Amino acid sequence: MEIREMTACTLGQKIRRHEIGVKEAVKASLDEIKKQEPTVHAFLSYDEKMITARVKDVEAGMKSGKYKGPLAGVPVAVKDNICTKGLKTTCASKMLENFAPVYNAHVIDQMEEAGMIVIGKTNMDEFAMGSTSETSAFGITRNPWNKDHVPGGSSGGSCAAVASGEVSLALGSDTGGSIRQPAAFCGVTGIKPTYGRVSRYGLIAYASSLDQIGAIGRDTADCAALLDVISGADAKDSTSVPGMKTDFYENLRESVAGMRFGVPKEYLSEGLDRQIQKSLMDMIQLLTQAGATVEFFSMDHVDDVIPAYYIVACAEASSNLERFDGVKYGYRSAAGEDLHDMYKKTRNEGFGEEVQRRILLGSFVLSSGYYDAYYLKALKVRALVKQQFDKAFKKYDVIIAPAAPTTAPKIGDSLGDPLKMYLSDIYTAGVNLAGIPGITVPFALSDEGMPIGFQLLGDCFNENKILQAAYTLEKLRGPLPAAWERRSDRS
Ligand code: GLN
Repeated sequence: MEIREMTACTLGQKIRRHEIGVKEAVKASLDEIKKQEPTVHAFLSYDEKMITARVKDVEAGMKSGKYKGPLAGVPVAVKDNICTKGLKTTCASKMLENFAPVYNAHVIDQMEEAGMIVIGKTNMDEFAMGSTSETSAFGITRNPWNKDHVPGGSSGGSCAAVASGEVSLALGSDTGGSIRQPAAFCGVTGIKPTYGRVSRYGLIAYASSLDQIGAIGRDTADCAALLDVISGADAKDSTSVPGMKTDFYENLRESVAGMRFGVPKEYLSEGLDRQIQKSLMDMIQLLTQAGATVEFFSMDHVDDVIPAYYIVACAEASSNLERFDGVKYGYRSAAGEDLHDMYKKTRNEGFGEEVQRRILLGSFVLSSGYYDAYYLKALKVRALVKQQFDKAFKKYDVIIAPAAPTTAPKIGDSLGDPLKMYLSDIYTAGVNLAGIPGITVPFALSDEGMPIGFQLLGDCFNENKILQAAYTLEKLRGPLPAAWERRSDRS
């Protein structure tokens, strides 16, 4: 088996058993990156010198017994809105084109303590705003399954890097679906943990009350192992929840017997692609045959999710992005005539169109006179959405949902109509409003050969249950081909 075909846990095991060297694992990843990047463009940067130095550290740490977890020695890609000390972190924006943080995000420190190796930074929608990875200031990423299609977004680079075999694991961030939707489009597994499970320290904020870092991998076990590494309280993020030791990887069990699954009827509306509907029915049948109960139920406020999400997200973004003024970080316009003019020109030249649209929308809904009508109302809707999930979890262990209304769209088809693009977050954004965990599991391929994945949603801090359901579903579904096995340009 080639290294690129291995899951992260298999690779980690082979490294621990000295069947594969750390250097060899990293070289395989870099070779694949060099081969694929000209067409996929999942990465924005990688620094071979830093990687070589880190390989030496890890080799020594494994010898001395400092690094012994399941992912020691395994390369990992990191979304470019997560701060990496000395390594550029651009948020795919001209605004931060040359920003190299002087500190690591907490999750990076945790991964380094587990002996993992950051291989590079991945492309994304600018400041994580988008659903296709096309709003990056540094060029688009292509879907490894079909290069004429987008990989989804905003963590499109991370998902494409895993799907193409460049890495087996990656970090993404999810504010309204940015891990779960691209995971579905790229045929990989991605988990957004409960809000507060993972520290956001060093994640460049888009919407702080919705953002959460999560894991992207080939399968559920890989995601569980990486989630074990990055979970836990952090004194530098007061919203991270203390006192919860996690053991997701060790606790993975294969069974859905007796588990209760619910499917909101409203999710099966006209907008949902027919092939996805059919796959959903196939999946329900598999789960039922394995001893689970699956029921359709009615969920209120499904149509209110998108307006509430975009009001809350843009309001928070307009405040979070205030700091990019040409003084403290990154880009500064050379054309400013005085201080105010410099602010304006910097923000006008440094931010792309989608980011500016959201800052405007966010400032508007927070402005006096409109605050009550929009922002406050959105917060009330948010509470109602949370109530709907609370009610559902009294009855069901896991809620099943599509990840998106369609499979990955063609490049260029989405950006022309931002409202339509916003509406495609219908199945994912409510999860962030409610703060609950969700995992996307690849399930089938469409007639056109594009991946179809589904979300399994759980109650707060019940990641164990959705991981168990996902792990079992993988076995019930059986193996799916990898992107490189389907590609015509296979080499
Ligand atoms: N597509 C959503 C948005 O544009 C979600 C983005 C995200 O989760 N970062 O806001």
